[in-house]
Amino acid sequence: MSNFRDGGVDNRETCIIWVCDNCMFHHANGECGDCYGEDGHVREPWVLLSSDHAHGNTTMGMLAEEHEWECDGFGCDCEINTFSMSSCDGCGSRLCGQRHAFTLWGSK
Ligand SMILES: [Zn+2]
Ligand SMILES: [Zn+2]
Ligand SMILES: [Zn+2]
Repeated sequence: MSNFRDGGVDNRETCIIWVCDNCMFHHANGECGDCYGEDGHVREPWVLLSSDHAHGNTTMGMLAEEHEWECDGFGCDCEINTFSMSSCDGCGSRLCGQRHAFTLWGSK
C-alpha cells in the first residue's frame, strides 16, 4: 500500500528520539497539563531541537521497520517506554516516567 520506504522520495536519514509526556502533548496539541500549572514546565518542551525540528521534521511514533520483530505496528507498546530514567530528548527533562518515540528526519 505504501511505497514510503522505497519510493526514493523520502530516503532521508531518520533517528528515533524519546520524549516526555509534555513534549508529546505539545507536539500533538500545542500545550500540556503543565502549561497551566503553578510551576509551569520543568523545561520548555522541545527546547533541545530547533523549532524546525520540533514542528516540521519530527513525527510521532516510529517507522515500521523500527518496531519489534513480529510486531504489526498496531496497538503495540514499541512506541512507548512506560518508565525511563533517561532524560527527555526533546527538552532534557530528567523527570523519570513515560517516554514516547518520535522519528526525527534528517535534512536532505
Ligand atoms: Zn506545556
Ligand atoms: Zn510495535
Ligand atoms: Zn520533554
